[in-house]
Amino acid sequence: MIRVGLGYDLHRLIEGRKLILGGVAFDFEKGEDGHSDGDVLFHAITDALLGAAGLGDIGSYFPPEDMKWKNADSAELLRTVWRDIQAAGWHLVNLDCVVKLERPKFLPRRREVIESIAATLGAAPDQIFVKAKTGEKLPPVGTSEAVESEVVCLLEK
Ligand code: MG
Repeated sequence: MIRVGLGYDLHRLIEGRKLILGGVAFDFEKGEDGHSDGDVLFHAITDALLGAAGLGDIGSYFPPEDMKWKNADSAELLRTVWRDIQAAGWHLVNLDCVVKLERPKFLPRRREVIESIAATLGAAPDQIFVKAKTGEKLPPVGTSEAVESEVVCLLEK
């Protein structure tokens, strides 16, 4: 059996927060606002994997009103979810990801982000791809008010 999953997330960019994408910290004057560390890419990946496995979504797994997840490391949340998905017999075929941000430049860090995602999932880097798109100066991504991510994944068992 193969199943596809789709994940999407958006976080507001504000001063005084770190910009973390796929577990990699970027140098920028703003970062993702959020209950956890706000890693928009890991959140979209988590939702895509949960959707494909039919195990709910990130909000049902880690309720935002639960103080346990305040400033949580999104890599840890993803690892928790992925353990359960693997326990249900699923294997990753591939993940294809889009990050939408105006600045800073994503491309120089792409390899690092792919390797970080692969390491978090115990997958091979060639099962994962990440591309970045700007917002063409249009709000909210193009004005650096927000960062977005969209992810599709394929699971098999
Ligand atoms: Mg999120």
